[in-house]
Amino acid sequence: MENILSTIVQRDPHEKEFHQAVREMLQMVRPVFERNPEYRREAVLERIAEPERVIMFRVPWMDDQGQVQVNRGYRVEMNSAIGPYKGGLRFHPSVNLSIVKFLAFDQVFKNSLTTLPMGGGKGGSDFNPKGRSDGEVMRFCQTFMAELFRHIGPDTDIPAGDIGVGAREIGYLFGMYKKLRNEFTGVLTGKSLDWGGSLVRPEAAGYGVVYFAAEMLAARSETFEGKTCLISGAGNVAQHAAEKIIDLGGRVVTFSDSSGYIFDEQGIDREKLAFVRHLKNILRGRIREYVEKYPGAVYTEIDPDRDHNPLWSHAADCAMPCATENELNEKDAVNLVRGGVRLVCEGANMPSTPGAIGVFDEHGVLFGPGKAANAGGVAVSGLEMAQNSMRLRWPKEEVDERLRQIMKNIHSICLDAAAEYGMEGNYLAGADIAGFVKVVNAMLDQGLV
Ligand code: NDP
Repeated sequence: MENILSTIVQRDPHEKEFHQAVREMLQMVRPVFERNPEYRREAVLERIAEPERVIMFRVPWMDDQGQVQVNRGYRVEMNSAIGPYKGGLRFHPSVNLSIVKFLAFDQVFKNSLTTLPMGGGKGGSDFNPKGRSDGEVMRFCQTFMAELFRHIGPDTDIPAGDIGVGAREIGYLFGMYKKLRNEFTGVLTGKSLDWGGSLVRPEAAGYGVVYFAAEMLAARSETFEGKTCLISGAGNVAQHAAEKIIDLGGRVVTFSDSSGYIFDEQGIDREKLAFVRHLKNILRGRIREYVEKYPGAVYTEIDPDRDHNPLWSHAADCAMPCATENELNEKDAVNLVRGGVRLVCEGANMPSTPGAIGVFDEHGVLFGPGKAANAGGVAVSGLEMAQNSMRLRWPKEEVDERLRQIMKNIHSICLDAAAEYGMEGNYLAGADIAGFVKVVNAMLDQGLV
């Protein structure tokens, strides 16, 4: 395994996020190879860590000043063993091939855990929608789709949203796809309700994280009632995780964005949450504006070069990192343990560094890894695809109940797989093993392609 990893590192030495994701997976699936010697003979690791297809393209567009801008677009079609490629698009200046490959790699196993027939992919661009007018975002999305449309389709590859890609961007992308192909199909998920979207899709990732965490607590005869929770981020996943925690009787005290975080000791209630939604989704403002409206809260700027994030130093019972990868490091994990946190459940993809996960493990903190805990987003995307194929729409209660069942199921799958390999209660090992075995067996069934 070390040889395989060093070959991957030598081949693409700059892809550190991708190496991190592959390294974690290799460590966790080691025992599976002892039981299945054919996996080694068939070189499944080498095959699974190599994308089936990588698409990189130029995205030229014109800004409001008439200046031509050039961004880079990506789509990594990682694995289609169990279904068409499925995974979001991210628009953020940090996007590069390493980040898209790591997200696509993790997406393969996440999608496998949902039990829905979806392969894994991911894409995006280094375009920054922040501060851009609607017209600029529309022109960018149209040019992006003018290339992407030839690689995707409802039975081939079905993108969705991610950081920087919400309802507005999905609308512009869908409009251009429809014009180019002259067809109205479920080629993107996260669509608006009036033209093919599913109820509960916007809420799904955040609700799903909390449903998963509630299962983790229930396995220890506990609930969210009265528990204090730290949440990072203030976007789609963070907002809906907060909403569901409030529904279940918990107390959310933080939100953040890339500039800083707010701490509201009184707790963020439904009214304050509605303010954050309006601020972030409509006004596209900054989280510091929260304290102008609610002066009882405190805003702290976060230095991008910090060695720890003060958000994670507050006393709490639970923590849910819902912003971005590697946002919670070993020091943060130590601070969480000191502050009394006993459950960490990841809303974002790979937000905890390997050092942080080591600290959780050492101190017996319940740890729900993103690839299991945040699978609710893609699961409801899968349900959106099913509704689009049938040309009908399920009621809200039905989709929500299906989401809840899927999260409950993923929780059991993780625990069962971990127990089967003697790692009782290790959700990370369980998620990696269960997701991996299913995809690998499908690949073996389909021959060397
Ligand atoms: P949004 O764009 O809606 O929100 C992202 C939030 O994270 C914003 O508050 C943003 O702050 C903050 N953030 C982004 N990058 C950084 C950074 N480098 N440092 C600090 N803060 C940052 O995205 P989502 O809520 O959709 O996604 C959040 C995470 O959840 C991502 O890891 C995504 O991959 C994952 N995820 C999303 C799913 C979905 O369905 N949307 C499904 C499963 C996982 P700012 O506004 O300043 O940029």
